[in-house]
Amino acid sequence: MTELTEIEIRALKAIKSSPDGILQSELWKELDVDSRKCSRIVKKLLESESVERIEYRQDGIKTYRLIVRKGPIDPGFLMAGDELIPCVACELECVIEECPFLLDWMYQLAIADAGGKE
Ligand code: SF4
Repeated sequence: MTELTEIEIRALKAIKSSPDGILQSELWKELDVDSRKCSRIVKKLLESESVERIEYRQDGIKTYRLIVRKGPIDPGFLMAGDELIPCVACELECVIEECPFLLDWMYQLAIADAGGKE
């Protein structure tokens, strides 16, 4: 994968700046480039898999909403051996630094990690 150029990084920051993303028709104005150049920038960001594009109609005109792509969470990060992290089903008032359940789980995680390295 090729590195992003300065303008592509600016575009990515503009897209990241809003949780709802940004319309492509607004992005080229924000970047102060024409729509053709913006299309090339968006194409590169799509190829880098850092953003996704959703078709959108504004006043009957087709454009795209660009949003930052979020990857799926690896379920392995939630497991210590066979034990699921306790926070998933927890309804306690959370004081993470003092939680005995999380401490036990982290202990299990350390044991599972040590076992995997042998
Ligand atoms: S850290 Fe403890 S109290 Fe907080 S959500 Fe996880 S299990 Fe619950």
